[in-house]
Amino acid sequence: MEQFSQTKEASPVSGGGKETAAREVRSLTCIGCPLGCTLTVELENGQVKSIAGSTCRRGDDYARKEVTNPTRIITSTVRVIGGAEEMVSVKTRTDIPRESIARCVKALKGIEAAAPVRMGEVILENAAGTGVDVIATKEIAAENRLRDEA
Ligand code: SF4
Repeated sequence: MEQFSQTKEASPVSGGGKETAAREVRSLTCIGCPLGCTLTVELENGQVKSIAGSTCRRGDDYARKEVTNPTRIITSTVRVIGGAEEMVSVKTRTDIPRESIARCVKALKGIEAAAPVRMGEVILENAAGTGVDVIATKEIAAENRLRDEA
């Protein structure tokens, strides 16, 4: 599920009979904190002209990035072989471009990690060619190690 909402209104602006600029207004919900401020971004020819509705700098930064270079951190799980648990939670080490999300999720399908899995261990290098690794966010002990300790 997307964690934001967005609407667009685009309208070319005429000046003296010919088009001079493409204006667009986007409405976003800031995901910087639980307040979820509604942000209105005005763009002209793809450039941010104004941002309204944010009550802090993080909102401005989020809105600017969201309309010019939207990115996300991807979280998922992969199967663990020989581990005390069957699955390990993973995430991209940093944000990746939004258009790479589907390819990253697809690349994670069928990936298996051999136990033991260390937190921060690279599970998938260079996910979907983004240059960003997918790492484990949890420690999973090997199944036999737990048996030996019991
Ligand atoms: S603009 Fe600031 S206060 Fe509002 S939701 Fe974003 S981070 Fe929170």
